[in-house]
Amino acid sequence: MTAQNITLATLATMDDYDPNSMPVEQARQLIKQFLSPISAVETIKVYDAFHRTLAADVLSPMNVPPHNYSSMDGYAVRHADLTGTSNKLKKIGTSFAGNGFGGKVGAGECVRIMTGATIPEGCDSVVMQEHAKAEGEVIEIGAGHKRGQNIRLVGEDIEQGAVVLARGQLLRPVEMGLLASLGFAEVSVYRKLKVAIFSTGDELRQPGTALAAGQIYDSNRYTLLGLLTELGAQIIDMGSLRDDKEVIRAALLKAAAEADVIISSGGASVGDADFIKQLLDEIGEVVFWKLAMKPGRPLAYGKIGTAHFFGLPGNPVAVMVTFLQFVRNALWVLMGQNPKATFSFQAICTTAIKKAPGRTEFQRGILTQGGDGLWLVQTTGEQSSGILSSMSRANCFIVLPVEQGNVEKGSVVQIQLF
Ligand code: AMP
Ligand code: MG
Repeated sequence: MTAQNITLATLATMDDYDPNSMPVEQARQLIKQFLSPISAVETIKVYDAFHRTLAADVLSPMNVPPHNYSSMDGYAVRHADLTGTSNKLKKIGTSFAGNGFGGKVGAGECVRIMTGATIPEGCDSVVMQEHAKAEGEVIEIGAGHKRGQNIRLVGEDIEQGAVVLARGQLLRPVEMGLLASLGFAEVSVYRKLKVAIFSTGDELRQPGTALAAGQIYDSNRYTLLGLLTELGAQIIDMGSLRDDKEVIRAALLKAAAEADVIISSGGASVGDADFIKQLLDEIGEVVFWKLAMKPGRPLAYGKIGTAHFFGLPGNPVAVMVTFLQFVRNALWVLMGQNPKATFSFQAICTTAIKKAPGRTEFQRGILTQGGDGLWLVQTTGEQSSGILSSMSRANCFIVLPVEQGNVEKGSVVQIQLF
């Protein structure tokens, strides 16, 4: 299979394609084949641009800094005047930041200068005030100064016309400041990605109401709300649905008409009240629906009309794991951002871990640094995928590859920081 030529029709003809037990990496690659970034662009205020995605390269309209200025409080001098071991210069004025010295500085003269102030004409160096002695208008300066010292030059940070930010850049606080520093009040960004979410399950009740026997609170929608807010998506919250095939069908069709992406939780496995896979078959197209991973075995991915559909498992930890391992990257691509490399490294596992070969496992880990600087990781204990508190205590995944069996205490494992 090559990167760009895959379609749903050709999937079935691939020998290594098993939608019932797909390896994690293959699932990631497959999803990628179906993603094309949104193209609609809008112009918004830089003030409102937090966590939006740049739709065009930003070229600097100016030099930064725009003028040569002093990086110290002291005296602007002509280096040629500092040939002796003790040099007496005549102070002829002062240059303040935003209010420079208008005149020209001649031989034997200097100007008192503040940090950020423009270097007066004729000067080529700044001597820190700590290295000068002032007696009235006479400034005495010793030897050992370099030409050009303590001056920040025009364009030293950014040259006019240079690409400062590239299309696809996520706008974080630093980019907001950078745009403002170049004088931009507005910026061109991709429109927000519309993501519809809903939970499924007859047992689900909303927080703030009382639980009857057998009921639990719908937490997945809150987790998803947080995850999607963090990504800067426009969330279409469709609430919590009963395990009723027609109710879910109607929700999926409505979501597909309104959203770029649909994310559901629950009902994705093979129980009698699990309709996600059947419905995706009936009204959309299934790319895969079961992964060789734990937690998160039932993860459906496919398309309904033009919308991408992720049917996440119901277990709260599995929701987070599948979102972080598959959905987030896909959403970044759809938002027009460049996919980010997963930051992963090795640590020594201080707990033994039970594992059977056959699936990739994402265990919740707590990473610490030992006194000798080595990275140590322990599991959060019981790894049942219903235990959301373990996810809150963890700061990383311990990623155990498919073929891995039991992990002995003291062995090296791969970890992924949250
Ligand atoms: P399911 O995938 O629908 O079989 O659900 C698997 C497990 O996750 C069951 O124990 C469900 O009760 C639980 N679950 C499903 N949806 C949610 C939700 N929105 N919030 C919390 N737990 C859920
Ligand atoms: Mg269910």
